[in-house]
Amino acid sequence: MAFKSINPTDGTVLATFNELSPKEVEQKLERAHTAFKEWRGSSFEDRAAALRKAAEILVSEKEVWARLMTLEMGKPFKQGVAEVEKCASTCRYFADNGSRLLADQPIATESDSKLRYLPLGILLSVMPWNFPFWQVFRCLAPAVMAGNGMVLKHASNVPQCALGIEDIMQRSGLPEGVFTTLLIGSAKVADVIRDPRIAAVTLTGSEGAGASVGAAAGAALKKCVLELGGNDPFIVLPTADLDKAVATGVQARTVNNGQSCVCAKRFIVHREVYDAFEEKFTAAMASLVVGDPMDDATQIGPIATEDGAQSIERQVNESIAGGARALTGGAPSSRNGNFYAPTVLADVPSDVPAYCEELFGPVAVLMRAENFDHAIELANDTPFGLGSSVWTHDALEQQRCMNEIEAGLTFFNAMVASDPRLPFGGTKLSGYGRELGELGAREFTNVKTIVTAT
Ligand code: NAP
Repeated sequence: MAFKSINPTDGTVLATFNELSPKEVEQKLERAHTAFKEWRGSSFEDRAAALRKAAEILVSEKEVWARLMTLEMGKPFKQGVAEVEKCASTCRYFADNGSRLLADQPIATESDSKLRYLPLGILLSVMPWNFPFWQVFRCLAPAVMAGNGMVLKHASNVPQCALGIEDIMQRSGLPEGVFTTLLIGSAKVADVIRDPRIAAVTLTGSEGAGASVGAAAGAALKKCVLELGGNDPFIVLPTADLDKAVATGVQARTVNNGQSCVCAKRFIVHREVYDAFEEKFTAAMASLVVGDPMDDATQIGPIATEDGAQSIERQVNESIAGGARALTGGAPSSRNGNFYAPTVLADVPSDVPAYCEELFGPVAVLMRAENFDHAIELANDTPFGLGSSVWTHDALEQQRCMNEIEAGLTFFNAMVASDPRLPFGGTKLSGYGRELGELGAREFTNVKTIVTAT
């Protein structure tokens, strides 16, 4: 098997890599195991120093890595620069706060009791292509700080990013083998999970991949975190600042060419403001600039892969055939490459793909809610439960949303976004476990209870 790095803007093959042989995988796992045995005894200062150095390298080379992401998966270059900067700030956050987040926690008993957060071992990290740097660094930084090792199986279409991250971590001063990229296909993942040198697995990706990896981890009795897809609601209620909701909604739907797990996907709008929202939102989506992702004026670049472009085309075609109405777009863009026109769908029946499936591209679904209760009902009418954004200044409505929306994240009057200080993760088919923040820092640790009789 070979991994091809293909530029989605024009279809050029940029590089090809062979899959590692079983012998090479064995050598890398053995080296990772040897490295972990030393690394687990490292101090918080040593771990923080490697993360600070990685942050320094990321910042000084941010344009190099952003350009690589643009070439390999079509992310607009400016967004790539911001992604690399966020990786750096996340390394710094865990370097600065790791010793506090992982400090012994005393517990009041009649003895001297406490919790200690110890390294768990080598984590297998199975990652998607959509934020090829961010997804890796958001689990790598807390793993390093906790004294764990990590082997990365990145998505097959971003092998250059995978090797670039390994290069950065080697130059960060991390001992060789603490972080390793494994160029292997998804068919080899279960074997790596079963390997006794692997302690746990974290996967960010689709439901199908989550089910396979979760099953393999379950069979091997290993800890597993799953960060899966979403069909996030963006609810607009009568007290919303409509212009701000429209502008933020467009951004929330189209960031990363519409390929983010927490993109706003279903716009659920109260009937009192529906018509005004529909008109302004459709006009704003129709005016987005589609083009070369290296160009700073571009707002929407290509879909990352040909398969992805075909999926979004099928989902929209089937939805329109099933009764949905395209208010703008509704077809691939006329450019060559994997471009899809920014699209707004209305009157979407509940049995078509645009209602039930995750749309990974610049396609928004508008829904009219008759009242607040109906808005919540529509928001929860999905098997997913990742993010949710609600536009209201009514305190009672906010309280009800906090309790009643079935999601891992609810943001008011703002788009959903990750932040190293805030735990991130989903419920329902969006997965389980948390990354980032205090919970993410401790997710892959052996939480040891220690009691000393006094
Ligand atoms: P994907 O096809 O599921 O792939 C994700 C990773 O899993 C890749 O490394 C892939 O390897 C691997 N994989 C796929 N099938 C597997 C299997 N059966 N066994 C083991 N590994 C397997 O997802 P994607 O297309 O890269 O990413 C898009 C999805 O990720 C969307 O659903 C998105 O919402 C979700 N996502 C979620 C979050 C979150 O935080 N919740 C964040 C970002 C993305 P190959 O590339 O070799 O197939």
